[in-house]
Amino acid sequence: MLPIERIEAIPARVPTIRPHHLSFATVDAMDVVIVRVTAGGIEGYGEASTIGGPRWGEESPEGIAAIAGHYLAEVMLGQDAMALNAAEDRIARAVRGNYFAKAALCMAIHDVVARAKGMRLADLLGGPLSTALPLAWTLASGDTARDIEEGERMLGLRRHRDFKLKIGAKAPEVDVAHVSAIARAFAGRASIRVDVNQAWDEPTAARWLPALSDAGVTMAEQPVAGWNVPAMARLQRANPRLAIMGDEGIATPQDAQRHVTEAACHAVALKPAKHGGVAGTRAVAAIARTAGLGLYGGTMLEGTIGTLASLHLYSTLGEYAWGTELFGPLLLRDSLATTAIEVRDFAIHLPEGPGIGTGLDADKLEHFRTDRRRTLVPA
Ligand SMILES: [Mg+2]
Repeated sequence: MLPIERIEAIPARVPTIRPHHLSFATVDAMDVVIVRVTAGGIEGYGEASTIGGPRWGEESPEGIAAIAGHYLAEVMLGQDAMALNAAEDRIARAVRGNYFAKAALCMAIHDVVARAKGMRLADLLGGPLSTALPLAWTLASGDTARDIEEGERMLGLRRHRDFKLKIGAKAPEVDVAHVSAIARAFAGRASIRVDVNQAWDEPTAARWLPALSDAGVTMAEQPVAGWNVPAMARLQRANPRLAIMGDEGIATPQDAQRHVTEAACHAVALKPAKHGGVAGTRAVAAIARTAGLGLYGGTMLEGTIGTLASLHLYSTLGEYAWGTELFGPLLLRDSLATTAIEVRDFAIHLPEGPGIGTGLDADKLEHFRTDRRRTLVPA
């Protein structure tokens, strides 16, 4: 028995090393929520992050802090952290939706239990199938020459050789020219993928995906709206050389099942935040693997704490045909964790435990937390 004594959800804002341009927002800082669970005098940590607030999905840092720190805390205080399945079930039933908040608390409870047992989170989850997962990088400076320069630097450092380009904000012909130039620059040396983040309609995607494929792009993530599963299926059928990946459209196991039934994609982006925790992520991964869809270890650009929680979980789920994009900490100028992620030979490596394998830097959290600064001032 390990009764949960305290649950805190603390919002913080950490600046990025460069502006990150996506179809729906440009961010120069990441808004995260750190969830700290205390049980038996031991602390465990979880993290949720949003990209530009409630723009990628429905959840905002303020909402996540309120749901995790109030509504979910209410039903979890005094409960046995060791009863992980019961805890996750209780969290799932306590409020509707709000998967990011649920996932952050779920990961914190798993972390506290792993620390109490003195083992790595991955070992608590049955043990890793691999201790190093391929790590992609997103080229999203908004400038072709700067992206190529950045990609060359990453190759030289042996940090990344899979590059994802964020497109959809500009005219498709501009985007395709940008992607083609980068694909030419890295031909035979790195893989090039794109993420449209739902920005195109079906005719636009039908017209431009073949051009991207011809340019050497191997995977196109969420080219159309997440709800438009029939369009995803038609686009996948029309572009068999390209793996279309479901991201925004695949949150619940039911979403994953529908994509399988309708043959709507060849690849699935996992994110514990989308799936609401460990059980949801396992379910989505199992459906994808059963149907022969390639797995991708996605990110909401969490800092080190959320990234390591995802890494431990991902390491137990199987092969990653498309690798992972667990590079969030590398995009941040500072860290709320006491150690850095280990990246070498184009992979992110599982740290030794206990728990997620890092600690919370209380001074940094104090510095970057946003809930004590109420006045918004122009940047
Ligand atoms: Mg995506």
